[in-house]
Amino acid sequence: MNIKVVKFGGSSLADAEHFRKVKEIITADCSRRYVIPSAPGKRFDDDIKVTDMLYECYDIASNGGDFDEHFTRIASRYEQIIDDLGIELNLGDEFAIIKKGFIGGAGRDFAASRGEYLNGIVLAKFLGYEFVDSARVIFFDDKGDFDSERTNDALANVLESVERAVIPGFYGAMPNDTIKTFSRGGSDVTGSIVARAVKASMYENWTDVSGFLVADPRIIDNPKVITCITYRELRELSYMGAGVLHEDAIFPVRSAGIPINIKNTNDVDAPGTMIVAEAHDKPSKYIITGIAGKKGFTIINIEKDMMNAELGFGRRALSVLEKNKISFEHLPSGIDTMCIIVSTEDISGKEEKIRNEIIRETGAEYVRIEKGLALLAIVGRGMRSTRGTAARIFAALAHANINVRMIDQGSSELNIIVGVEEECFERAIKAIYDIFILCL
Ligand code: ASP
Repeated sequence: MNIKVVKFGGSSLADAEHFRKVKEIITADCSRRYVIPSAPGKRFDDDIKVTDMLYECYDIASNGGDFDEHFTRIASRYEQIIDDLGIELNLGDEFAIIKKGFIGGAGRDFAASRGEYLNGIVLAKFLGYEFVDSARVIFFDDKGDFDSERTNDALANVLESVERAVIPGFYGAMPNDTIKTFSRGGSDVTGSIVARAVKASMYENWTDVSGFLVADPRIIDNPKVITCITYRELRELSYMGAGVLHEDAIFPVRSAGIPINIKNTNDVDAPGTMIVAEAHDKPSKYIITGIAGKKGFTIINIEKDMMNAELGFGRRALSVLEKNKISFEHLPSGIDTMCIIVSTEDISGKEEKIRNEIIRETGAEYVRIEKGLALLAIVGRGMRSTRGTAARIFAALAHANINVRMIDQGSSELNIIVGVEEECFERAIKAIYDIFILCL
């Protein structure tokens, strides 16, 4: 039988009305057997996510402050949902234990994880599903790294005998039984891990948008939804800041070949975005799958005559960054020139030091550090087989009067990265969207 793992984000579980929608979705398909909830999210624009309330409340508690009022506000978010749903459930004992943990210094991760834990209990009761505490089945090792093998065995073992269950997202247990969370948005990761363990046919990730968009809606009006994207394309776009799914959520399902379907809780019939390993049989209407980008990059330009013939030049230049704990993002190079692109935030305040050290290490004649670069990633599996894609990108940018400062094509021919001045960033995205998507 097909098994689907379904994860619901915080906005899909923010209040009783959404809980009802979620129940309808789950019961509409009997293969939706394992459910991963986030903590209740925002109900309206100025609302606060329960996870954020928990962090704040714990910080007050650990500084010895009076956190009663904050705690009561959190408890009432759950009580409201329970009341509105009309279910028989009293979380009084749970709140008492959590409060004790706050006073006893159980840790910020423990505090934050209670958002998902409590929501899991409420949802399990509402659905009539078993509640499986993630602390029993999701593990981290001594160093705090996710323990993939131990988790997979425990999850497969426990869920084998549980027909339908709610497993809260975002956290697991350390070897000493303390609670540890994934990074923010980590319920996506839990869903992926559970999908792998139960050998799911599909991991459905329900959120409040109808899938990944071709471009950022803050820049492009009403951008198209990406109907199908490969894991690799998604990696490229997520790296450049295209949100929706936690980056680490890709790996467990990718290795098991399980597709992810991003779906909208508020628009159930919309097909959403399908994320798959290979898409040979799913040709896209567009050459480009998505455009993403970020501001806040700096270029380190290095020049030295005969650089190309000098063994170890690149390594010596990069070792300076490594010593200064700066990771590089891109490395386009010429014959006697090399450009290193780094994040402006990482290099800020260290520019002179880095410059001098590179000159000392490499004997470069010229090192210039320039801030104010924005990078755009134009990603698409269709580019590999289509001639003239690069030409169209640069023609579009030239028509929009945008100067290209850097070009880097990924070796997989899956993406072209273009560097432009930060003030041209939005115009550049528009120009590329227009030529590849709108003009079709
Ligand atoms: N509740 C957590 C957060 O806000 C985890 C999640 O929602 O995925 O980051």
